[in-house]
Amino acid sequence: MFQALRRKFMLVNMLLIFIILSAALLGFYFITWLSSEQSATRLISTYMSMPLGEIHSSSDTPHLFISEIDVATYDYIQPLIDSNIFKYFKTSYAHDSFSSSQTNNILSEVVAKDDIAARIKVDDRYYKYQKQKINGERIKIVVLDVTTAIQHLRSTAFTLVAIALVSLIFVYFVSKLITELSVKPIEEMFERQGEFFSDISHELRTPLTAAITNLAVIEANKTETVQSQEKWVGFLKDQLDRLVNLVNEMLYLEDIGSGIHNETNERINFSELVEQQIKGLSAYINEKGLGLSVCIQKEVYYHGELEALTRLVSVLVDNAIKYTPEGGSISLNLAKADRRVYLTVENSGEGIEPEDLERVFDRFYRVRKSRSRNEGGQGLGLAIAKSVVEKYGGTIRITSTVGANTIFSVELPI
Ligand code: ADP
Repeated sequence: MFQALRRKFMLVNMLLIFIILSAALLGFYFITWLSSEQSATRLISTYMSMPLGEIHSSSDTPHLFISEIDVATYDYIQPLIDSNIFKYFKTSYAHDSFSSSQTNNILSEVVAKDDIAARIKVDDRYYKYQKQKINGERIKIVVLDVTTAIQHLRSTAFTLVAIALVSLIFVYFVSKLITELSVKPIEEMFERQGEFFSDISHELRTPLTAAITNLAVIEANKTETVQSQEKWVGFLKDQLDRLVNLVNEMLYLEDIGSGIHNETNERINFSELVEQQIKGLSAYINEKGLGLSVCIQKEVYYHGELEALTRLVSVLVDNAIKYTPEGGSISLNLAKADRRVYLTVENSGEGIEPEDLERVFDRFYRVRKSRSRNEGGQGLGLAIAKSVVEKYGGTIRITSTVGANTIFSVELPI
């Protein structure tokens, strides 16, 4: 599927880049052609207004000559254009490169043409001419040799075509790069989505299978009282609680991520909130024999939603306790500075490998799946914490040293 997408993407990219490049090259050619045409027309007009006597031939003037003839003679020579008509014209050369036979051939072509201005080809050379009636008596003809300009235009065209062809190779590699850069994130997103579906199926299947097993045991002892089967009923309830909890967490995550979550904005005493969370978990901390160091700045207020901020703090504190081995230590800091609230939760322990660091914020991602599940984790805590932080335009970062500690740093703009 991605191979086909890559091919299409690349084709569209190549076409687009090639069209833009061709348009630029064509534009360049058109401008060159236009300026050459304009300078030829300007030159012809300048010489058209000059009296014949003022024109002197030299080697650095334009390749041009001017001929004059009276109207009656012009009409007379019309049928004679194949013969020597040069002698009927009065001609002045601005450049000494024209021979009389060449001039004769050019004039024959000009006389044969009805257009008052055109481009002609005579003896393998190109000329631009203009003929004009002067005072109704004479006809003045200015002929400019444009062979060099045309050759120049042709070599420009060849160069541009060569550039276009060579640039095809360049376009190919650029398109390949753009395609890779564009398709890769989509591919990764699909991969993650696939993982997500497999993870969620697994998360749902585990408690469901356990619940069905418990039900089967209860069913096998139909005649027993509920009280005597309390153990199995309790297990069943635990599994169902786990399922409900999982669904609730997912719904919460979805709501907060899509921005449709309750938008209440109350003034919350963040210092108290953090203290309450620690107090609520002190029994757990003592049970594990963890050392606790807390530094909470008093009266840190934050405008936000109480439930969201409580979840953020509880996920971080809860994880710190959960993933610190017995006898380990936890330290927690809360401070306000420069219109920002800084919350840091650090715990000792085995730490997290660098390749897992960014992924711990993904839904259902757990560094050690079985261990985390035993601890009651569903792999959604940090995803929820990240969504809450992002909801308030803040950042959450993780740093960890394997075999030493893990630090979560939250920064929330006020
Ligand atoms: P869980 O419900 O599994 O705790 P989380 O999203 O909260 O899910 O955390 C994801 C994973 O990140 C955990 O499974 C754990 O491996 C790792 N983790 C989270 N917090 C810590 C911590 N304080 N110390 C070490 N590892 C942690």
